[in-house]
Amino acid sequence: MKIHLAKSAGFCFGVRKAITIALETVKTKKPIFMLGDIVHNEEVVRQIQRAGIKKISRLSSGAGKTLLIRAHGCSAKTLKKALKLGYTIIDATCPMVKEIHAIASKLENSGCQIIIIGDKLHDEVQGIAGGLKSKAIIIDKFKNIPLEKIKDIQRAGVLVQSTQNLDNVRKILNVLRKYIPRVEFHNTICNPTRIKQGEVKTMPLENDIMIIIGSKTSANTKRIYEIAKPLNKHSYWISSALEIKKIWLKNAKNVGITAGASTPESSIKEIIARIKAISGAQ
Ligand code: SF4
Repeated sequence: MKIHLAKSAGFCFGVRKAITIALETVKTKKPIFMLGDIVHNEEVVRQIQRAGIKKISRLSSGAGKTLLIRAHGCSAKTLKKALKLGYTIIDATCPMVKEIHAIASKLENSGCQIIIIGDKLHDEVQGIAGGLKSKAIIIDKFKNIPLEKIKDIQRAGVLVQSTQNLDNVRKILNVLRKYIPRVEFHNTICNPTRIKQGEVKTMPLENDIMIIIGSKTSANTKRIYEIAKPLNKHSYWISSALEIKKIWLKNAKNVGITAGASTPESSIKEIIARIKAISGAQ
């Protein structure tokens, strides 16, 4: 059996940067807190917590405390509140996410109704929407397009959560363009996501089984899985080696492996070692 690992498997530059910033911040020896998970991966979060950074779900008095902003950012309102409470801010927001915030504000200031194509409850989407003066319309799926809300819009600025699937985005966009006379579309899917999704459009066809590694909370891993599954029904989304079933590998000559942007190398190595141990693969 042969194992084919995707070139882009694992950390993207935004996640790598956020983790580096977090671990560097620990060296200041000050009390450091992260609001929610720094990235969507339990192993990485545990590593950050072991280094001494505490996870909080809400802000409290920030005097003498440092607040680490996660890779997918937070809203301008949250940032303002944290500063008001006295936190020192260390911003680990990915530059690609910051760019989406900037585009959203610019479009809003030019008079557009902002429409975000993305997962309603995802930190990144909440952060973009929460930084606007007006209420953004968030569309997660083609079947959930709120026609009642969009049919009266004259001009819309449409943005995309950085980890969305472009094929789904296009379907939604086509409907928006039918109803809204002026649509200014910015494809804000980040480059690492495009590369990962590009690879997973062929790998499931070239391999007998496809393993996608990443946390169930990871939006970008979910998209990769959603692309792989219809191409190869033997596609499996796992977060640890313990989830691998021997039956999956039976009769498989080629195993394709990829991993989400927040999946650490240690998880990838552990899973490859397990596959080799079960199958004797090289
Ligand atoms: S997935 Fe894209 S937007 Fe998210 S952290 Fe990585 S590079 Fe940045």
